[in-house]
Amino acid sequence: MAKYQIEVIPGDGIGPEITQAAIAVLDECEARYGLNFSYRFHDFSADLYRRTGRKITAEDMNEIGKSHAVLFGAMGLPDVRGPEGLELGAQVEMRAHYELTASLRPVRRFPGIETPVKAENIDMLVIRETSEGMFAGLHDQHEPSDTFASDRMTITRQGCEKLFDIAFSQARARRKRGTPGHVTLLHKSNALRSNVLMEKVFDEVAAQHPDIETAKYYIDLGSMYMVTNPEKFDVVVSENIFGDILSEIAAGLVGGLGIAPSADVSMTHGVFQPSHGSAPDIAGQGIANPTAMMLSAAMMLEWLGERHDDEHCTKAAHDIQAAVEKALADESTRTRDLGGTAGTQDVVDAVINALTTVAAA
Ligand code: NAD
Ligand code: MN
Repeated sequence: MAKYQIEVIPGDGIGPEITQAAIAVLDECEARYGLNFSYRFHDFSADLYRRTGRKITAEDMNEIGKSHAVLFGAMGLPDVRGPEGLELGAQVEMRAHYELTASLRPVRRFPGIETPVKAENIDMLVIRETSEGMFAGLHDQHEPSDTFASDRMTITRQGCEKLFDIAFSQARARRKRGTPGHVTLLHKSNALRSNVLMEKVFDEVAAQHPDIETAKYYIDLGSMYMVTNPEKFDVVVSENIFGDILSEIAAGLVGGLGIAPSADVSMTHGVFQPSHGSAPDIAGQGIANPTAMMLSAAMMLEWLGERHDDEHCTKAAHDIQAAVEKALADESTRTRDLGGTAGTQDVVDAVINALTTVAAA
C-alpha cells in the first residue's frame, strides 16, 4: 500500500473548516483505493502570529519540505500585519522557499451552476507564475518610510523557461481529455521591460512546441476577452500579480472562488490550496464551500500519482473530481456562494456519497 506523508496547514478563518472537509474525503479514499495518508498538522496562521509572534521559518519549511506534499487551507486576517504593514502569508513564503514556479488554477463550468456570462464551454487552466514577477522584491532591504514605498517586478530567463515548459506540457496533457492544446500569454510588453523579456522567451519556447498553438495579448485586452470570449482560452499563462488577478476573474466566470482549486508546484515540491482566502466574513458558521479545497486535494493526488507513478492516486483524484461534479449538479448540495442553502457538512456527505457511485462505475 502506497503511503504518503502530508503536511497540513489549516490556517485562518474558514481554513480549518474546509481542510477538515477535504480530509474527510481523503479518509474515504484510503480504503477504497488502497492508499495511506499520514498527516502532520501545523498551526501557522495570522492568529498564531497575533497571539505569539511566531511565524513560519526557513527551518520549518525545510522540515515540512521533506514530506510528499503540503495541504494548505488559507492564511491571513486583514487586521493582522507584520512590521512592514503586510499581511502574514505562509503560502507566499513557501512559494519563494521551495521555488514553486507555477500556480495551476483550473477553471471549468460545472453542470447546473449559474454563470454570469453566456459562454457554455469554459474550460481553462490559468497558470500564475509564483517565484518572481511583482513579488520578486519580497525580501529586499528597505527603509520604512511614510512618503515612499516600492515593489519590484523582475523576470528571469530561467524562471520563464521553467514556467513556459510547464504551460506547454500542461496544454499537451490536457489535450488528452479533449481541450485544443493551446497556450495564451497575457503580458504587458508594451510598457514593462520585464515583460519584453517574458514575451521573447515565450516565443522561443513556443517554437520548440510546434504541436501547440499559441496566442498573445496585452493583459488589459486579454482581461476583457476573459469576460467577453472565455471560450477562446485553454492554457493561460501570466506573471505573478497578473496571474493572481486573472485567475480570480476566471473563477468568477464559472461560479466564484468557492469552487476554484489551485496547485503550487515545482518538479520537487507541491502546495495544494484553494484559490480563495480565509473568508473571515463567513468563518465559524459551517457554511463555507469546501469544493475548492476538495478539488485542490484531488490535484494533490493527481500530482502524487504522476510523480510516484501511482495509478491508485490518479484514479482517486479523477473520482473525487467526478464526485464533486455529481454532488454540485444537485441543487440541494449547493452552498450560499452558489445560490443554495447547504452547509459545509452537507457537501462533504454528498461528495462521499457520490464517490460510492462514481467509484463503482
Ligand atoms: P477571500 O477569498 O477570503 O474572500 C472573498 C469573498 O469570497 C468573501 O466574501 C468570502 O466569504 C467568499 N469566499 C471565499 N472562499 C469561499 C468559500 N470557500 N465558500 C464560500 N465563500 C467563499 O478574500 P479576501 O476577503 O480578499 O481575503 C480574506 C483574507 O484571506 C485576507 O487576510 C487575505 O489576505 C487572505 N487571503 C489568503 C489567501 C491564501 O491563503 N492563499 C489568498 C487570498 C486571500
Ligand atoms: Mn488571489
